[in-house]
Amino acid sequence: MKGIVYKSTGSWYIVKAEDGLFYECRIKGRFRLKGIKSTNPIAVGDHVAFELETNNDKVTGVIHEIEERKNYIIRKSVNLSKQVHIIASNIDQVFLIVTINNPVTTTSFIDRFLVSAEAYGIKTILVFNKIDTFDEETLDEQLYLQYIYSNIGYECLRVSASEGKGIEAIKEKMIGKVSMFSGHSGVGKSTLVNAIEPVLNLKTAQISEQHQQGQHTTTFAEMFDLSFNAQIIDTPGIRGFGVVDIEPSELGNYFPEFFELKERCRFHNCMHKEEPQCAVKDALDKDEVAWSRYNSYIQILEGDEEHYRNDIYKD
Ligand code: GDP
Ligand code: ZN
Repeated sequence: MKGIVYKSTGSWYIVKAEDGLFYECRIKGRFRLKGIKSTNPIAVGDHVAFELETNNDKVTGVIHEIEERKNYIIRKSVNLSKQVHIIASNIDQVFLIVTINNPVTTTSFIDRFLVSAEAYGIKTILVFNKIDTFDEETLDEQLYLQYIYSNIGYECLRVSASEGKGIEAIKEKMIGKVSMFSGHSGVGKSTLVNAIEPVLNLKTAQISEQHQQGQHTTTFAEMFDLSFNAQIIDTPGIRGFGVVDIEPSELGNYFPEFFELKERCRFHNCMHKEEPQCAVKDALDKDEVAWSRYNSYIQILEGDEEHYRNDIYKD
């Protein structure tokens, strides 16, 4: 049988099979995907093949195969330095919820998020929330950010989760896809998900409860079916994407607006810093590249990884 992993508690996996039913599955023996060393062999979102077996009248599944992942997001394991924990896989898109103030979402945070998403190969849609609270100044700021990001290819939506404005546009984009919602604490993720699917919390609490025993401090990702042919992956306690290790020389690849420009830099390995005849810096001088974006690039390049990590995991 084939199915998709909806929940994982470490030793058990809840798999939704093609027949639409959920099966409790485990893995037989040791079993790892080539290429990555992870503390968990299987993650939420994985497409797996499994066989059913019956023990004491209980039907469970044994996973014997996992399909190659389209993408996956990770978190570094706290104690095992080389190993990572795969939070979720096969994510079609992530909605990054942004508020201009209350709380403030900085361009630095947005850009770091986008770099991670680009590196992971996950499409990001920016959702500006709380538009109902905007005064003129806030509105200007929001429209300016929307201008910057839509110019470089990121879709932008404007919503008020609490007033139910703009929700249909989000739902439309979610149909037939696996989505995630990210953003700082307090930006309105729960309110938004609740506006998208009011009954979600009720439905899922029951499925998950019996599998929570033995769960320690780690919170696990979980996939949910929505009523309109859409899935979301919830990652409790994680506000953004884990840190991807990016070589400094590759960082520019994750800034879409640098991509064509860099062909015109004098040096093919230009880092767009002090080098002469740099097309990125020329574009910056002509306001064709946003200063905030360039600043983020330099900031990431010069690394204050620690700051970033706090940004993401802090509650
Ligand atoms: P989360 O931490 O991202 O899940 O944020 P919550 O959904 O808990 O929302 C944080 C606070 O912002 C709550 O007090 C919400 O009522 C409020 N909030 C969420 N969306 C909106 C919105 O569109 N407009 C306004 N005015 N408040 C909102
Ligand atoms: Zn350059």
